[in-house]
Amino acid sequence: MEQHATRVGEHSRGLRREIRCPLGRSRGRGRVRRGQGRVRTQARTQARSRGLRGVALVVAAAALALGLAPAEAVPAALSTASGLSGAATGPGSRADAASIPTGACALGGPERGGTYEGLPTPAGFARSQGTVKALTLFIDFPDAPAWSNSPSDRFAEFFPAATRYFDRSSYGKLAYRPTPHLRWIRMARPFAGYRIRRGTGFDPGSRFGYGALSREIVNAVDASVDFAAYDVINVLASPDAGPEATDDVLSVTFSGGMGTPLETGDGVRFGNVSFIWSRQTGPSPFRVLNHETAHSFGLPDLYLGREDATRAPTGHWDLMDEGWGPSNDFLGWHKWKMGWLDAGQVDCAGLPGGSDHTLTPTGRDGGTKIVVVPTSPSSALVVEARENGELDQAVCRPGVLVYRVDTRTDSGDGPVRVADATPGSQGCYLHDVNVDADLSDATHQVGDTYQDARSGIGVAVTEQRADGDWRVRVTRP
Ligand SMILES: [Zn+2]
Repeated sequence: MEQHATRVGEHSRGLRREIRCPLGRSRGRGRVRRGQGRVRTQARTQARSRGLRGVALVVAAAALALGLAPAEAVPAALSTASGLSGAATGPGSRADAASIPTGACALGGPERGGTYEGLPTPAGFARSQGTVKALTLFIDFPDAPAWSNSPSDRFAEFFPAATRYFDRSSYGKLAYRPTPHLRWIRMARPFAGYRIRRGTGFDPGSRFGYGALSREIVNAVDASVDFAAYDVINVLASPDAGPEATDDVLSVTFSGGMGTPLETGDGVRFGNVSFIWSRQTGPSPFRVLNHETAHSFGLPDLYLGREDATRAPTGHWDLMDEGWGPSNDFLGWHKWKMGWLDAGQVDCAGLPGGSDHTLTPTGRDGGTKIVVVPTSPSSALVVEARENGELDQAVCRPGVLVYRVDTRTDSGDGPVRVADATPGSQGCYLHDVNVDADLSDATHQVGDTYQDARSGIGVAVTEQRADGDWRVRVTRP
């Protein structure tokens, strides 16, 4: 994992800055050389896919500038972030308190102002339910002018598909409304003049990087755009700017409690902003925007950001791990975190003994979606049912998925890990390198029992009913 410390001014002392990268990487048969954006695949899949995977780039910018390890900066980040985010409205506003998950299974954790798995999502992230207004801007460069593409064409690469994805995934709870500002904003310098790389940070005082880009963008539209009217911002770059997505994934989101340190003329920060570069391959390339936007909703990256990481913690079971290839839905835990599940759709198995639960597969409306079995104040086993569907096109073994959520594990370090019901098999989805094959058959079937060695908790799949729902029995000491 590469970390790029950016110089930050005195005003941003103690802030934990997160750079959320894009996604997509070939797993299973593929291997990514992290930080260089290169994919190495074995011969069988080499020719057909060069999808790659992003790297979690969590930059505790101020901490690094001070020479501190990120963990050492936590208290400062907590206190400073809350102080700075209080004044901001517009981008960075949060959902109503009534929609925030509560109860014994709503794991908290060491909130540090950045994305994490804990509940509720900290202040400063965008609301993730109701109507979410997304200002959508378009930029091009003198050396990559959008001659042949109109802003409408670029917009159409993502919408209405991305909106429909959120509508379906949220069971109608999230109405994502992108408002395009239909003109190309020409940047002053050629693309290379901004030194945009994977991991480039946001320093509002710098001549380079996202701070420089964003200053130009804000200056270009501030008079005609009311930034305070939007929850999130998308910046769609001309697809000819920068490297091909198959060579290097640059898309990034600057989200969280402090947004970015750049203020607009409307008195709100230029925050919860995603920059989308180039084009992904595959049948649903628009999902890069859903992945990036989900960072503005507070979700962390699930893939491992370490240079030497070769395996997927959650595989194609969540968009925050794998976003290339066939469509995949979010895990139920993420749906709960984003406010898309009603309280009655979450079973909390917190007491000793046995309990029986009926799970309706994620892709269907209604029913219980997850059983949460807490194992500590900051960790839990989560159980859900998955089947093939509109958003879950790579499910080749419908069944019951068991995974561990740990709110103390940072983005990029594997805060969610799926328990593989068939650890010795190569998987059942073998024909797309963008799908982690090993975990594609991770689901448990009727008669299977997952036994957690650490906690002694057992999850037995007892029945699949005629209507498609799954019955599970949870036992805990
Ligand atoms: Zn990401």
